[in-house]
Amino acid sequence: MALLRTAHQDANLKGVMCRTLLSVDWQGYVYDCDFNQMLGLPLRRNGRPRVHINDLAGSDVQGDSIVVGDHCYGCTAGQGSSCGGALKS
Ligand code: SF4
Repeated sequence: MALLRTAHQDANLKGVMCRTLLSVDWQGYVYDCDFNQMLGLPLRRNGRPRVHINDLAGSDVQGDSIVVGDHCYGCTAGQGSSCGGALKS
């Protein structure tokens, strides 16, 4: 973890996948990304501890807060990382 933390690059923040993608589990609950889904960290909205995809119909989540944690250094370290590979080419 210390290595990831020291390799963090602020420039990668604009390209992390949680800024443009959502993850939805088999029951329809929404997460900011698949990492958060696997860690059991649901998207939070309007004080609700988790949100169902049906609750987002007609909503715009652009600009909403993203649930983050130490695991996020895996996306922001070095060249950055996402489901599409490195953030920098
Ligand atoms: S792990 Fe963190 S930084 Fe990476 S996509 Fe998920 S919420 Fe965003």
